Amino acid sequence: MPELPEVETVCRGLQKDLKSRVINKIIIYDPKLKSLNHHLSSLENKKISLVTRLGKQVLIKVDNLYLLIHLRMTGRLIFVKNSKQHSLIDEIQKGEAYLEHKVIRLTQDNKYKHVRFLINCKGGTLYFFDPRRFGTVEYFDKKPELAINSIDALDENLNSYLHQNTSKIKQNVKSFLLNQARIVGIGNIYASEILFLAKIHPERAWSSLSKNETNLVCRYIKQVLTKAIEKGGTTFSDFQSSNGETGQYQNELYVYSREGEKCRKCESLILKITQGSRSTFYCEKCQK
Ligand SMILES: [Zn+2]
Repeated sequence: MPELPEVETVCRGLQKDLKSRVINKIIIYDPKLKSLNHHLSSLENKKISLVTRLGKQVLIKVDNLYLLIHLRMTGRLIFVKNSKQHSLIDEIQKGEAYLEHKVIRLTQDNKYKHVRFLINCKGGTLYFFDPRRFGTVEYFDKKPELAINSIDALDENLNSYLHQNTSKIKQNVKSFLLNQARIVGIGNIYASEILFLAKIHPERAWSSLSKNETNLVCRYIKQVLTKAIEKGGTTFSDFQSSNGETGQYQNELYVYSREGEKCRKCESLILKITQGSRSTFYCEKCQK
């Protein structure tokens, strides 16, 4: 599942591709999304002004309206520039589109059959692929916000939020970092990496952290996520950015998915445990 850095990577790519483009036509293929038909048609002939991230979701601002897309397990947003713009709308309406300079039948058994909807703009088309169909699309006529009492992992006020609102939480530190009702955007891969760098054992209670340790966790949340964004995210299974590139952060990992391999700092073997039905990777010697 894409985490904050992967969604940020998608948003940055889409912001370049989509900003200031005028929407010609939105076509829905997935019956689950048909209820959005009326709303989506109101976006046609309007200009996309911004693509940004809201937590782990992609927010597309069109005029003063908003589309919020959650990629979930397998959702992907891919932008393809037109190769034959003049006839694209006609082709799409027949169930075909120009992709990679070839006519692709969207309904046939090929890798494009999982298109749930598309946004055709002047100059190109944004496709929402989603083989498992867990992704969601919502429409808002005013800017959506994160849930009350939660904070984005890269919010500049994260440090004071952690000190003021969370110091009594007895949950283990690993599960706390994954709790999206608190910090939005940290997933399983990055939680293990953050705790390794902060030298904190994943089974400790969050409330047992000293002020200094909380500061360290906050510092490494920022450092790990920012570096992962620089590397275009982490690709383990099928994450791709909006232009189809894979991420590179998997080459930077200290502990995640390295069970039984040597710690890069002390050469002890990396251990794996299960917490809240999710795998945690850590070094017993480095993390206290
Ligand atoms: Zn170690």
